[in-house]
Amino acid sequence: MSDRLLQLSANPRMRAMVKSLGLPIPMPSPLSRAKDPIEARPLEDMRIAIAGNGELAHPLANGLARAGATMVPLYAAEEFEAAAEAFARPLGEDDGPLNGLIFDATGFSQPSDFRGIYDFFHERVSRLARSGRVVVVGPARLTSTDMVASGLTGFIKSLAKELGRRGSTANLILAPKGIGAHVEGSLRFFASRRSAFVTGQVLELSPSKGAAPREFTRSLDQKVALVTGAARGIGEACARRLAQEGAHVVCLDRPGEDRLFKVAADCGSALHVDVCDEDALDAIHDALGERGVDIVVHNAGVTRDRTLAKMKSENWDLVFDVNLDAPVSLTNGLMESKALRAGGRVIALSSVSGIAGNMGQTNYAASKAALAGWVRGNASALGRRRITLNAIAPGFIETRMTEAMPTAIREVARRLSALSQGGAPSDVADAVTFLATPAAAAVSGRLLRVCGGAFVGA
Ligand code: NAD
Repeated sequence: MSDRLLQLSANPRMRAMVKSLGLPIPMPSPLSRAKDPIEARPLEDMRIAIAGNGELAHPLANGLARAGATMVPLYAAEEFEAAAEAFARPLGEDDGPLNGLIFDATGFSQPSDFRGIYDFFHERVSRLARSGRVVVVGPARLTSTDMVASGLTGFIKSLAKELGRRGSTANLILAPKGIGAHVEGSLRFFASRRSAFVTGQVLELSPSKGAAPREFTRSLDQKVALVTGAARGIGEACARRLAQEGAHVVCLDRPGEDRLFKVAADCGSALHVDVCDEDALDAIHDALGERGVDIVVHNAGVTRDRTLAKMKSENWDLVFDVNLDAPVSLTNGLMESKALRAGGRVIALSSVSGIAGNMGQTNYAASKAALAGWVRGNASALGRRRITLNAIAPGFIETRMTEAMPTAIREVARRLSALSQGGAPSDVADAVTFLATPAAAAVSGRLLRVCGGAFVGA
């Protein structure tokens, strides 16, 4: 779908003209996105300044150096020198433009500590290049207090709004003690172009007993993934991205969706079945065979918008059947049969509408919020077999679903975010792929918004 303002803004002369005329049009910055499979060094040649008052200097230094960054360290100099030498990366000077700003706040414990983030960012935020990345790593919420985590959340959400116009993002990772090495996987996502449409978000890592991954490329080789609603839009993008990382993808969509054959030809195999059909679970088991499945992406979803007084009961039921009942019952069925293998991943597509609520979407918002609640509540049960369960909440993504919106509402909706534009299906697919890979081994029971920093429900 075309976004005229975004197309205009991609032309530097147009941008300059709009600026010189002082027009009050927010000109969105075209986002810089990754297209190829996940690279060994996704931060190659990014100049990243890093400072802090925390305990993660060692994993951050090694993670950044392994990912190819040119580090500009402003704390723990010895750790960064050693990592730069080990991975043959140069250290940079603290001057000129920067592509990333990272702050380790895991040592924060009292109000006066917050001054440290002011001193670091105040000096450098205006040197952040277009499509720059800010990542703060903070301590996990404690049962006794979450002053630090909450304060950092407020900081990140505000900074995301300040940076969005330049296509830059700001996100917060909360890391429980002892999880250090697992931060690298999330850092690779948030500091790289894989997270182009993710901003103002908080991702809390779970205490994990498993070893942190060291290899990040082709990490889904030999894996089998099931993606529902894969014939188009976000589902198609997920199937293509998972296949790029090596997975064989069973692409599922409704009978009659012939486009599915085209997607399946590139990604794996096709399965035509309605997820609400009472035989759906059997059909999925048949398609998976003895091998079973490692990754399940519950993407199939529908809207039937009407204000509540005008909503027909069959449209209430349909939305719940597809968006909530099917993901829950299919997951339960695949768990019971053990077709969902130990160490697997389940990712459900929720929605920002479920967080914020939306006029005319009582059915859709309720089903998507319920799905996110199911994820929160069931992650620990699945965790017994080392299966993670997470939700993604897309904001405004340019697909057939949003194309169906009235033009005026669509124009406003896609601008109401820090990045002032709609996202692409590939943005959601990148987040789904991150959650499906070993990089996200310590992420479970979470909801990650891929919404460009949507102002609603923030
Ligand atoms: P889409 O309408 O473009 O594609 C959805 C796909 O799901 C279609 O191919 C459709 O045939 C399939 N599907 C629907 N019902 C099915 C059923 N009963 N059985 C099997 N397949 C079925 O939608 P999209 O925009 O790509 O959205 C994908 C997911 O993301 C949905 O769950 C949606 O609610 C969610 N989402 C989308 C947006 C957005 O802005 N596009 C925002 C928030 C959440």
